[in-house]
Amino acid sequence: MAKKKQDTVIVTAGRDPEANFGIVNPPVYHASTVLYPTIEAVKARAQPVTYGRRGTPTTFALQDAIAELEGGYKTALTSSGLSAVTTALLAFLKTGDHLLMVDSVYQPSRHFCDTVLVRYGVNVEYYDPLIGGGIERLIRPETKVIFAESPGSVTFEVQDIPAIAEAAHRSGITVMLDNTWASPLYFKSFEHGVDVSIQAVTKYLCGHSDVMMGSITTTEAAWKNLLDTHGAIGQCVAPDDVYLVLRGIRTLSTRLERHMKSGIALAQWLAKRPEVKRVLHPALPDDPGHKIWERDFTGACGLFSVELEPYSEKALAAFLDGLELFGMGYSWGGFESLVIPQYPKKMRTATEWNAEGQILRFHVGLEDIGDLVADLEAGFARLQAAES
Ligand SMILES: *Cc1c(COP(=O)(O)O)cnc(C)c1O
Repeated sequence: MAKKKQDTVIVTAGRDPEANFGIVNPPVYHASTVLYPTIEAVKARAQPVTYGRRGTPTTFALQDAIAELEGGYKTALTSSGLSAVTTALLAFLKTGDHLLMVDSVYQPSRHFCDTVLVRYGVNVEYYDPLIGGGIERLIRPETKVIFAESPGSVTFEVQDIPAIAEAAHRSGITVMLDNTWASPLYFKSFEHGVDVSIQAVTKYLCGHSDVMMGSITTTEAAWKNLLDTHGAIGQCVAPDDVYLVLRGIRTLSTRLERHMKSGIALAQWLAKRPEVKRVLHPALPDDPGHKIWERDFTGACGLFSVELEPYSEKALAAFLDGLELFGMGYSWGGFESLVIPQYPKKMRTATEWNAEGQILRFHVGLEDIGDLVADLEAGFARLQAAES
């Protein structure tokens, strides 16, 4: 058969019914102890399953599926998206090394760098997400990792990953990408020069707001390094969670298409509202990141931000507290719509965030788009009433 298209891979990846009595989905193995038949076998540790922490056929199925979707060599699973980021960084950095970290990174990833990595003597330097090939100027002999996240958390700057990867690889530097926004479907990390691609599986791969998990997929060259540290620090995941993610993946493409469509429609609607100063969504043609997004991505998810005009806290509360369909909470990537106030000024050091209006980050879920618009319309009416 010719190389399978993505929507086919979503259905087939990580499944082997013939090996499981014809049953469509892989079995859920609950395991700590795995028995060996002989002392010979104990000594050789040659059997495919050796200990629960090291994985079972259930986890192997999800690892294979994500590796195939990302287009990488192999995938390791971690207990959360954040621990995928921290495990990857620990695997490739040591005392005295220099890390170039994007200034618009997910805030808890930044916190890890500023606390644990700094404590272990890693030199952490933040860079402008729009730096592109200019990153060359920041590279030092001791630079070991360039970490990217595109678009940036909260503010959605699109990074020129191919230009960054080219500069990095000239100096033998490992390029890591937090690819959660695009998911493995809408940005192909390894075709754009990334060595280590990270997913907060918690978000769209799970897709139902009920699992915490992360994944790290690498090139063949980077795999051993990653796997050694992943094993050394004891990362593992629970079988029922893996099962839920395998189930979630099968509808990923269908869900994402709808998140994208509704997300763009709502972003366009918000852009026309007098209460909204600007919309931060790279799929909108006048977004500063649109050109690179169009060149490198094949789609957009349902996550974006808006900057409001300046309003009082009271008006903002009237808007947010009364929303019926948009829940207020962290995380995203489930079937439901969310909104959360964000404060990017506090989250950056290499670049400045001077916007005066409140940033609201929206996740557009799978509800009827007319109902979502009505919910926000009523919210803006409350906001205007509270302000006057
Ligand atoms: C949510 C998120 C993470 C962390 O994932 P958790 O599973 O919540 O730990 C990492 N990166 C990005 C971009 C995220 O949005």
